[in-house]
Amino acid sequence: MPHRHARATSGRRRLPPERYVEGVFQGDRTILARAITVVESELPSDGELAARILDAILPKTGRSLRVAITGVPGAGKSTFIDALGMHLVRDRGENVAVLSIDPTSPISGGSILGDKTRMERLAVQDRAFIRPSPSGGQLGGVARRTRETLLLCEAAGYQNILVETVGVGQSETAARSMTDFFLLLMLAGAGDELQGIKRGIIEMLDGMAINKADGENEPKAERARVEYTSALHLFPPSPDGWAPRVLTCSALHDRRITDVWQMVLDHHALLEKNGFLEKRRRAQALEWMNELVMLGLSESFRADPRIAGRWPLLKEEVRRGQVTPFAASRELLALFRGSGGGR
Ligand code: GDP
Repeated sequence: MPHRHARATSGRRRLPPERYVEGVFQGDRTILARAITVVESELPSDGELAARILDAILPKTGRSLRVAITGVPGAGKSTFIDALGMHLVRDRGENVAVLSIDPTSPISGGSILGDKTRMERLAVQDRAFIRPSPSGGQLGGVARRTRETLLLCEAAGYQNILVETVGVGQSETAARSMTDFFLLLMLAGAGDELQGIKRGIIEMLDGMAINKADGENEPKAERARVEYTSALHLFPPSPDGWAPRVLTCSALHDRRITDVWQMVLDHHALLEKNGFLEKRRRAQALEWMNELVMLGLSESFRADPRIAGRWPLLKEEVRRGQVTPFAASRELLALFRGSGGGR
């Protein structure tokens, strides 16, 4: 939905790059929000400004604790983040930014994640900054913008960054690739205990919290905890030396939220000590660079007038079986290289 976004932001005057950088460093929320709008923008004229802001703030990034929180809709993510966020700001006196990756939002007609009305207590806290998922486009583009927003929030001094994502697609892989800790939120007592979790997700997680462990759900949650704990033991140990833990909690009743956070802190302390935090972040930076190159290539490819002129016709011919996909892709790539884009 680049056009919708372009319309929404083009009316706003831009500031010189140093104004954004200064404002972000001062933790000015209004400027931070405007800087995020620039990095989220699909306007070509904002690309250069975004790059200058990001380059300038980069030295002040990397100091926060970055946590991905995923789970199927209804698992209690927003309730949990509200409770956890309150623990961070109220009990620990820290600040927190809540971001989300939700590539499906244009379909649902608006973001279902990171919506302030879903985090009622946290939304009114001065020390909390909640930003809904950037809307529109492919997962790659949405993830890029969330990652850049994460860096801006770090530079603005947020000590904790929570990245919320729905556990039903590829977005959790993207969330994991920009965070230090990957938390899966589960519900007990919703039938099959292994509902909705793919092996791939289990392999990625650093911790699991079985939510809604309250009332008559409590024994079920405890049983699920034991089952998942033994299931996790079947996986080979992670090279970082961390053994993922399974806890139960009740976001609604603020129970054992501190235990979940303590798990995140223990993990952080271990990885900081053994050097794996640095390793994980370096590996992420490398992945990130590759991703940006691929995104840039794909954007140039789509924007190339020769490609744009030929692609729809070739698509139709491939669909009809008149041209093989191989021949069609070769022709498009040759056109792209011929136009200078591929060199
Ligand atoms: P999300 O879709 O994963 O963000 O889930 P929500 O946070 O919107 O929660 C879905 C529903 O579960 C809401 O009605 C919540 O009130 C409820 N819920 C969330 N956490 C708990 C909990 O710990 N215990 C109980 N009993 N209900 C909860």
